[in-house]
Amino acid sequence: MKNISRRDFLRGGAAMGVLAAMGGATMAAAEESYTYADTIKWDAQYDVVVLGMGLAGMNAAIAAADAGASVVIAEKMSEALAGGNSKVCGQLFAYGHKDPDATLAYYKELAGGRVVEDDMIATIANGVTYLWDTIKDKFFGGDDSEFMDWTGLPLIGEMSPEYPEFTGSEKIALCTTHKGVSDSFLFSTIKSAVLERKDKIDVWYESPAVELIQEPETRTILGVKVTRKGETRNVRALNGVVVATGGFECDRRMVQEYLNITNYSVIGGQFNTGDGIKMCQKAGAQLWHMNAYEGGFGTNSCGYIVEEGKAAAQVATLTHNAMTDGAMIIVGTEGERFANESEIPRHGHLYENGIWENPKYPNRIFMIFDQTQFDQMKADGVFRTEFEGDVLSAATIEELAEKTGCVAERLADSIESFNSFAANGKDYNKNRAAGTMRAFDGAMYYALPMSGLMLNTQGGPKRNTNAEILDTDGKAIPHLYSAGEMGGITACMYQGGTNVAECFIFGEIAGKNAAAPKDALPAYNAAAKVESTPLTLGMDTDVAAAATFEAGENEYVGTGKGMMGDVTVRVTMADGKIATVEVLEQNETVGIGDKAIEALPGRFVGCATAEEIDAVDAVAGATITSGALREAVKAALAQAK
Ligand SMILES: Cc1cc2nc3c(=O)[nH]c(=O)nc-3n(C[C@H](O)[C@H](O)[C@H](O)COP(=O)(O)OP(=O)(O)OC[C@H]3O[C@@H](n4cnc5c(N)ncnc54)[C@H](O)[C@@H]3O)c2cc1C
Repeated sequence: MKNISRRDFLRGGAAMGVLAAMGGATMAAAEESYTYADTIKWDAQYDVVVLGMGLAGMNAAIAAADAGASVVIAEKMSEALAGGNSKVCGQLFAYGHKDPDATLAYYKELAGGRVVEDDMIATIANGVTYLWDTIKDKFFGGDDSEFMDWTGLPLIGEMSPEYPEFTGSEKIALCTTHKGVSDSFLFSTIKSAVLERKDKIDVWYESPAVELIQEPETRTILGVKVTRKGETRNVRALNGVVVATGGFECDRRMVQEYLNITNYSVIGGQFNTGDGIKMCQKAGAQLWHMNAYEGGFGTNSCGYIVEEGKAAAQVATLTHNAMTDGAMIIVGTEGERFANESEIPRHGHLYENGIWENPKYPNRIFMIFDQTQFDQMKADGVFRTEFEGDVLSAATIEELAEKTGCVAERLADSIESFNSFAANGKDYNKNRAAGTMRAFDGAMYYALPMSGLMLNTQGGPKRNTNAEILDTDGKAIPHLYSAGEMGGITACMYQGGTNVAECFIFGEIAGKNAAAPKDALPAYNAAAKVESTPLTLGMDTDVAAAATFEAGENEYVGTGKGMMGDVTVRVTMADGKIATVEVLEQNETVGIGDKAIEALPGRFVGCATAEEIDAVDAVAGATITSGALREAVKAALAQAK
């Protein structure tokens, strides 16, 4: 009876005839209602379906499993390649040293004046405040003996905190769960925690999610279409779906459209193509923070150009060396400097008007340096020798301009003005510190082609404090949750370690809420056919029909073009001269054009020729309306001749 709804059955008429023909048992079946989910052939069923096996997805799966749910993680890549940015990242998490007020103040300031809901900032800040203990208790059995706070140490300590000038910064730290970074340690720990729960969590590798399955009326997410072993399977999620598929840094089209960047290389995972963002958009999600991303750590957040699909190589990182200081400038397409080359970017952000913004990378970028600098870079071991073949060399600036395609005068201007800034100890262009500049030696000129660097994007579907994904009206899309960098909290400036923190904080919230039992789905009734009598072309329009005006004996109608449209007059002739001028239609500006409408018609009385009409003075300040009246009166007069 799946194709006939209860309502259809009870509607009477033909349906009652069918009922009458049925026996008692069949009557009972006819009473049974069904939901939209019953109209789909399901290939698998879990309480919770999690998409993506990064730190966000794994945290969500663990939280859901610990809440008693059966869970499947559908991951796009093979086991070897799964893990997105979580696997290759620094493994550092942000920590607020149990000071909620300081942490909240700090995270509010990071927003840089962008509007981010207070409750969302409070959720992140609260999580960061206690994250050390949360991770210790949940995943390390209460043992934090290997945990490490990097504050005050070289390099990573520079980001602990990353904004020391902000309120609360003294409590913000970058930490790891062991004494190392960038070695997948935290990722592997959490992966082990997933695998330990194999009675509750299934993992599907090489199984990309392709579409969310949504109930058409309430828009509840019922499950996900997942491609597995060459087949698209309908996977039912009884209580919720958590989308944790990471960012869109590897989808060059999305990066162009949302970040306005074309010349960039990806530093981390190579497979995050914004799949979850697109799926959630299709389900009606509102997006946020789509223009925020994190980049490189030196040389204007630019790096060596690597082949597409290979992780980008940094140039200078979190410290001054021969790649950032000396006779070295970085120029864009035509040869102009675009930033202070010695500034250490903050996760790729460059200082601009009081805050640290994502840079706008030029379409082509070159690091320009001299012979002394090149020798120094190599001697200090800071130049990656595998990129030496990419370096262009020239004896003169003109020759280098030709080889790079820069405009010779612009490139010469950049180098020569930099030399004078170095000599005078003041960079009037990009405010670079005096001690970081040395004039070019003029011996040789070199250009290293570069690209912008991209760690990870921050944008995606907007979520609320329950990790529910919101629609364009700000309402939660039922049973749809998210965690991690797909729709993260960062709108402007970024404190290192916050992305990983977000994976834990929102992973936990999303997993728990997705696992929670939900109300039964409403009965589904295919909409009955409805008769319509729609208005159609010409039956309802706000465009007025062209006005028609009567003209009696010796009367003539003429139109001129005013400031706000047509000005139409009726002219009455007597003895070959204008006797009256009546304005029939006008929309001229009140207080300006209407002065002419009032004053001018009487002044045309007695005119007999176009020349006499032209000789009537315009009303001061209403020249266009005056002209329109003259034009209209002349058009009327022409008909009288
Ligand atoms: C080099 C580098 C260093 C970083 N260091 C730090 C750090 O130290 N601290 C910090 O806080 N942040 C750091 N970040 C950022 C941080 O790593 C990420 O923001 C965070 O790990 C994102 O986690 P995630 O689970 O949201 O996404 P990811 O870890 O990227 O995982 C997403 C997963 O979803 C899968 N997936 C994608 N599409 C689909 C699909 N259609 N179906 C199913 N699965 C899919 C992917 O294959 C991937 O496994 C760093 C980033 C980079 C690149």
